[in-house]
Amino acid sequence: MSFSEDPATTAVRASLESDSQHGAVVPPLHLSSNYTFAGFGQKRQYDYCRSGNPTRDALADALTALEGGAGAVITSSGMAALTLLTQLLQPGELLIAPHDCYGGTYRLFESLSAKGHFDVLFVDQSDAELLRQAFAREPKLILVETPSNPLLRIVDIESVVDAARTCGALVAVDNTFLSPALQQPISLGADIVVHSTTKYLNGHSDVIGGAVIAASDDIAETLAWWANCLGITGAPFDSYLTLRGVRTLFARMEQHEKNAKLLAVVLGEHELVSRVYYPGLPNHAGHEVACRQQQGFGGMLSFEIYGGEAAVRAFLENLRHFSLAESLGGIESLVCHPASMTHAPVSADALAAAGIGQNLIRLSVGLESGADLVNDVVVALEEARKAIQDSSVSVMISSGSADGNGSICGGGGSLLRSNSMSSSVTL
Ligand code: PLP
Repeated sequence: MSFSEDPATTAVRASLESDSQHGAVVPPLHLSSNYTFAGFGQKRQYDYCRSGNPTRDALADALTALEGGAGAVITSSGMAALTLLTQLLQPGELLIAPHDCYGGTYRLFESLSAKGHFDVLFVDQSDAELLRQAFAREPKLILVETPSNPLLRIVDIESVVDAARTCGALVAVDNTFLSPALQQPISLGADIVVHSTTKYLNGHSDVIGGAVIAASDDIAETLAWWANCLGITGAPFDSYLTLRGVRTLFARMEQHEKNAKLLAVVLGEHELVSRVYYPGLPNHAGHEVACRQQQGFGGMLSFEIYGGEAAVRAFLENLRHFSLAESLGGIESLVCHPASMTHAPVSADALAAAGIGQNLIRLSVGLESGADLVNDVVVALEEARKAIQDSSVSVMISSGSADGNGSICGGGGSLLRSNSMSSSVTL
């Protein structure tokens, strides 16, 4: 008899009861850097921790199962995972990357391509025509980041996979923003999934880690070989903590999303907010694709406010329940100013091309009470309004912004107002 298991169960029960020595329910943490040979020429399963470790393998197995892959490599950071991905490229081969990807990813690809490791083309992947032109250049690999950081742009994974198949390119998806609880790119045809496990997978802001999950044994083996060769595999203790985080992933993602939806609606209705970027809003450009390829909209959202630096500063400085910090996906709510923080490595021109302005604010919505988070944001926006008045900046506010209002699939309906509402206020 075979049982089909819900992924939430897989996450909770990953490697439980695997300890044959003492029968521990939770698998023990193996910190040893090396392992004895059983005798001369008799290597056991593990010999040296850089190349293999039982605790790291338990995490790799869990992520392989959750992403529906053939194998996974656990790395020392998300950037190590992306570095590992680049080992699939030879000099002269082309990598297509998102024009609005995480700033560190942008910097890595730009720097390695400047040294001749491969060629890179940053493309707005939500633009079908630009994507078609990029594929005409016969890339070897395309990295998709959906939803993207920080603008939450959605890329249709299946259409990218279709286009990639015509030229034999591999498709990798950075699934950090949603985690396998809400999106499984391999089931949509992707060859590789990349994670910064620092974020939702660990979920408690106490580990830096990464993972690469491959759909085929071949790619998994190549990546594992390179990870050992480069020395970028993850530490056992970090793997232990991350697997503990994975056990509560599904429950956490539900609450992150519930709170994010509340905030998206409240921000969309606020006259100081010119635009909200949250794929759960029906008027978000990627909403339809998100409904098709995701099982939820996640806990990340961004928005733009009126009033220039004075308003941004006052908003950021008057929040009580959002910490001003980089990173995302932890239990705690965070606020970030991408242009000066996460995306500081990106040049001013590239920031402008990606649509990341100085008035953009990103929220990683945590697990606190939704009401507390809403109150906090409303109070901070009031302070931003006062700051604008104090600095006597005159700003035209239109509360009927293109992306700022509207209802959200599956929740929050009663809080909504009509999309057509439009008024002007001069501060
Ligand atoms: N990918 C995405 C989408 C990210 O947001 C980040 C970091 O913020 C990374 C990769 C890099 O991960 P790490 O900071 O764990 O190296």
